[in-house]
Amino acid sequence: MTTRVYDVIIIGAGSIGLPTAFFMAQAGLRPLVIDQFASPGQGSNKAAIGGIRATHSAASKIRLCLKSIEVFSTWKETYGDNIEWVRGGYSFVAYREREASVLKDLLKVQQAYGLDIRWLDRDELLEVIPDLQPDYLLGGTYSPGDGSASPLLTAHAFYTHAKERGAEFRFRERVTGIIRRRGKVVGVRTDQGGYATETVINAAGPWARAVAQMCGLDTPVAPDSHEAGITEPVARFLEPMVVDIRPAEGSKNYYFYQHGSGALLFCITPEPPIVGTDRRETSEFLPMIAPRMVGLMPKLANIRVRRTWRGLYPMTPDGFPIVGLSRELAGYIYAVGMCGQGYMLGPGVGALLSRLVQEELTPEDEQTLEELSPYREFGGEERLK
Ligand SMILES: Cc1cc2nc3c(=O)[nH]c(=O)nc-3n(C[C@H](O)[C@H](O)[C@H](O)COP(=O)(O)OP(=O)(O)OC[C@H]3O[C@@H](n4cnc5c(N)ncnc54)[C@H](O)[C@@H]3O)c2cc1C
Repeated sequence: MTTRVYDVIIIGAGSIGLPTAFFMAQAGLRPLVIDQFASPGQGSNKAAIGGIRATHSAASKIRLCLKSIEVFSTWKETYGDNIEWVRGGYSFVAYREREASVLKDLLKVQQAYGLDIRWLDRDELLEVIPDLQPDYLLGGTYSPGDGSASPLLTAHAFYTHAKERGAEFRFRERVTGIIRRRGKVVGVRTDQGGYATETVINAAGPWARAVAQMCGLDTPVAPDSHEAGITEPVARFLEPMVVDIRPAEGSKNYYFYQHGSGALLFCITPEPPIVGTDRRETSEFLPMIAPRMVGLMPKLANIRVRRTWRGLYPMTPDGFPIVGLSRELAGYIYAVGMCGQGYMLGPGVGALLSRLVQEELTPEDEQTLEELSPYREFGGEERLK
C-alpha cells in the first residue's frame, strides 16, 4: 500500500463519480477516482441520451435535479466548456384519459414543489409541438425549464476541471477490494495496488452491488438493458423532450428530442425489463420503437437512423437512488442505483456528497438523504422512473 492518504476514494468515473470528484476538489479535498475503463464516462454515462429534468414526483429528486439544472445551465459561462446545454423543456403527452389523469395528479405534486410545469390542452400543446399527431390528443404537461446536454462532453468537463483542482484519476484499474479495520474503511485494493483512505464512495453504477459485496455489504442494485438511437440531422422542428407513457407490447414509455445538431435521440423502456449486463444492441429495438414514434409524430416516417446502442440502468426496487452513509462500516458511502436518471442527478448528487463528507449538510440535505436512505423499506414506487 502507498503511504499517500486520500481524503476520499471514489469508485467509478461515471455520471455520479465525476461531478462528485469535481465538487470535492473544488472544496479543497483531495479525491482519487478509480475506474476500470480507459477514460471518463465510459460506463452507463455514455449510453444516456442527455435528458435533464427537475420534474419528478419526490422532493429528493426534485431538489437534486434543480441543483443539477443550475450547474448544467451555467456551466459554459462559469467554466468555459460547451456541454451542449439546451433548455428545450419536457412534455409528457396524453392521448387517453388514463395517462391524462396520471399526469394531472402528478402535476399537483410538482406544482406544490414550485416547479415550472403546467398542463396544456390539445391546441396549446400543438403550438409548442406542432408535429404531434393531433387525432385523439388530449393535451400534456409542459415544463419549459428542463432541457438536455451531452453526457460525454459533461463527463469530460467535470473530469478536466476536477483534475485542475487537484483530483487524481486512475483509469484502466479495477477495484477488487475495500479494506476495513475495526469497522472502519482504511483503504482500497485494486488489480494494480492499493490506496489509503478513510472514506470510500461506491459510485460504481450498474456494478455497484459487486463493489458493495467487496466489503461484506449489499445493495439492491440490479442492472437492466435499455437501447437508444440517433437519426441523421434535420432542420430544427422540435424543442421539448417528448415522453409518451402509454404502454405497448414489449415496452413501457419512450422518449425523444431533437439535439442541437438537428439529430433526434430516442430511447425506450422495455417491458418486461431485460435484467443483466448485456450491452450488445439488438435488431428488435428499432422495429419496436419506430412505429411508436411515427404514430406519435407522422413527420418522422422518412428520417434515417444512423446508429443504435445499448446501455444499462442501475435499477433499485423502488426506482429511487440509494445515497448515504453505511451504518455498518464507518467511512463507506453509497451513491448508487441512479436508475434511468443518473446523468441528470449527477451534479446535484455530487454537490450533496461533497457536503456530506465535509459534515456541512443542510436540513434539506438531511431530508433528501432520508428519502434516499440505504435503510429505507423500498416499498414505494417512483411514479415517473
Ligand atoms: C439508453 C439509455 C438512456 C439513458 N438516458 C438518460 C437520460 O436521458 N438522462 C439521464 O439522466 N440518465 C439517462 N440514462 C441513465 C444514466 O445513463 C445512468 O443512470 C447513469 O449513467 C448512472 O451513473 P453512474 O455514475 O451511477 O454509473 P456509470 O456512469 O456507469 O459509472 C460507474 C463507473 O464505475 C466504474 N466501475 C464499476 N465497478 C468498478 C470497479 N470494480 N473498479 C473500477 N471501476 C468500476 C465503471 O467502469 C463506470 O465507469 C440512460 C441510460 C441508458 C442505458
